[in-house]
Amino acid sequence: MTTPQDPHQAKADEFLSHSPLKAFIGGEWVSSLDGKTFTTRDPGTGIPIADVPAMGAKDVDRAVQAATRAFRTSGWAEMSAHERGALLHRLADEVEREKPVLARIEARDAGKILAQAEGDVQNFVDTLRYFIEISLHVQRRTPLAVRGHEATTVRLPWGPCGFIIPWNFPFLLVGWNISPALAAGNTVVIKPAEDTPLSTLYLGVLAKKAGIPDGVINVVTGYGESAGAALASHPGLKRMSFTGSPEVGRLVAESCARNLTPVKLELGGKGAAVIFDDVDVNATAARLVGAITFHTGQVCCDATRWLVHRKIYDRFVSECVGRLKSVAVGYQLDPASQMGPVVSAKQRERVLRYLEAGRAQGAELLLEGGAATVAGRDGFYVKPALMAGSLSNIAAREEIFGPVAYLAPFDSESQALEMANDTDYGLANSVWSADLDRARRVAERMVAGNSWINAHNVFPHGVPYAGINKSGMGGGVLSHETFLDYTRGLSIVRPL
Ligand code: NAD
Repeated sequence: MTTPQDPHQAKADEFLSHSPLKAFIGGEWVSSLDGKTFTTRDPGTGIPIADVPAMGAKDVDRAVQAATRAFRTSGWAEMSAHERGALLHRLADEVEREKPVLARIEARDAGKILAQAEGDVQNFVDTLRYFIEISLHVQRRTPLAVRGHEATTVRLPWGPCGFIIPWNFPFLLVGWNISPALAAGNTVVIKPAEDTPLSTLYLGVLAKKAGIPDGVINVVTGYGESAGAALASHPGLKRMSFTGSPEVGRLVAESCARNLTPVKLELGGKGAAVIFDDVDVNATAARLVGAITFHTGQVCCDATRWLVHRKIYDRFVSECVGRLKSVAVGYQLDPASQMGPVVSAKQRERVLRYLEAGRAQGAELLLEGGAATVAGRDGFYVKPALMAGSLSNIAAREEIFGPVAYLAPFDSESQALEMANDTDYGLANSVWSADLDRARRVAERMVAGNSWINAHNVFPHGVPYAGINKSGMGGGVLSHETFLDYTRGLSIVRPL
C-alpha cells in the first residue's frame, strides 16, 4: 500500500523526477545520440510517468561495444565463479533491499497490482541466486578418457549477449533472461519494452551500487522497430534472447540467422486447462478464475481454453461466472483492487476487438466482458469475459492477452486431448483430476513445453520452462540447461 508519506514511493518518485531519464551504457547514464525521447504512461490513469531515450542503431552499437569492451577488459569473464557470484549476490541484495521501490516503479509502469509487482521483484532475486548457485557447481573443465590423446572440454562464456523483453513481466523476465548469462561470465545489453522501461533502468542504479563492473550490464531504451531491430541484427552479439510475440520473434530469428547468432525465443501461447468430472468444481473454478485474472490475463502461459467434462460443464460455468463478476477491477496501487488495467490503450483495443470478432464468428458470451470504468481513473480497464462455442473460432485460436477464457465441453479423455492439442502454439497446459494416473497420462500426451497437474502457472527454479511450435525455440529458461546455453564448448586435444 502507498501513502503520501510512503518513503519507498518518495524514493521511486525521486528517481522518476529526473525525467527525461537516461539509458545505462558502459556504466554511464546517457541520452540517445539524436536526443529523441518517448513517454511511458501509467496504464491505470493514462498519465505520463517519465520520458525515456528513444534510441536507434548508433546508440545500440554503443551499448554492444561497451558490453564487448567489458567482456574483454573488465575481468568479468575471467573471474572465478566465486568472485563473480559474490558480486552478483551483492546485486541480488540491492534488489531485495529496494524491493518496495522497484515494485512501486513496476506497478505504476506496467499496471500491476502492487503485491504482484513485489512478487516479480522477489522472483528476480531468487532467479539470480539460483543461477549463482549453479555457476559454483558446474564443472567448467572436463578431462576426457580418449585413447592416444590428452583431451579436455572447457565451457566458457560467449561474450556480449542481447535481450529483448516484453511488457507483461518486465523485471521478472529481465531476471529470468540475464541471470544465467551473467552467472556464466557473459556481458549483457537489455532492450526493455517501450511500454515498461522503468524498472530495468532502475536496475542500472543498483548494478552501479553493487559494484558490477561498468559495461557488464547495459540498458538501451526505445521502440521495437528501431532499438529492438538494431539489437537483434547487431553482428557483435554472440547470443540473442527474445521474449515476446511469435510475429516479432520470427523477425528477430531472421536477423540472427543473417549473422549466425544463436537465438532463444520465448513466445506466446494459447494454453488449455483440461478439467475432468472428478474435480472439486468450486476449488478448480477458483484456481482458473485466479489464473485468468492474474495480471489481467496478460500472461503468456495462461489457461485461455477451458475444456470441461460435459457432466460438470454447467456447474463449472456458473461457478466461474459468479466468481468473475465479483472481481474488483481497479487502480493497481489501490489495495482494494484485485485486477488492474491492461498495459495500454492499444492492448485494450486488442482485447475488445477479439471479443467482437469471436462473437461475429458465432461464439456465445457466457460473461460479456468489455471495457470497464474505474471512478476517477482514465486508465485502460477491461472486465473479465467468458466465451464458448466452436474451437475453430478466432477467439479460441489466437492469443488475446487479456482476462478472457474460451470454454468447450468434452465427453472422453481422447476427445479432450484432441481438443487441447489442436493449436499452433505449444507453451503450457494443465490437467485437473482427482485420478492422478489419468492426470499424469494426459499431462504426458499434451503437446507443449510444459504440463501442469492440478495447478496452472508453476515455475520452480530448476524445472526447464520452454515453448515449442509457435511458442518458442532454443532451449527455454530457468534450469541447469539454461546456464549451459550461456557457455560455449571448447575442445582441447593433444595427440600423445
Ligand atoms: P512484442 O513482440 O510486441 O514485443 C516484445 C519486445 O520486442 C518489445 O521489447 C518490443 O519493443 C520488441 N520489438 C518489437 N518489434 C521489434 C522488432 N521489429 N525487432 C526487434 N524487437 C522488436 O510482444 P509484447 O506485446 O511486448 O508481449 C506480449 C507477447 O509476449 C505475447 O505474445 C506473450 O505471450 C509473449 N510472452 C512470452 C513469454 C514466454 O516466456 N514464452 C513471456 C512473456 C510474454
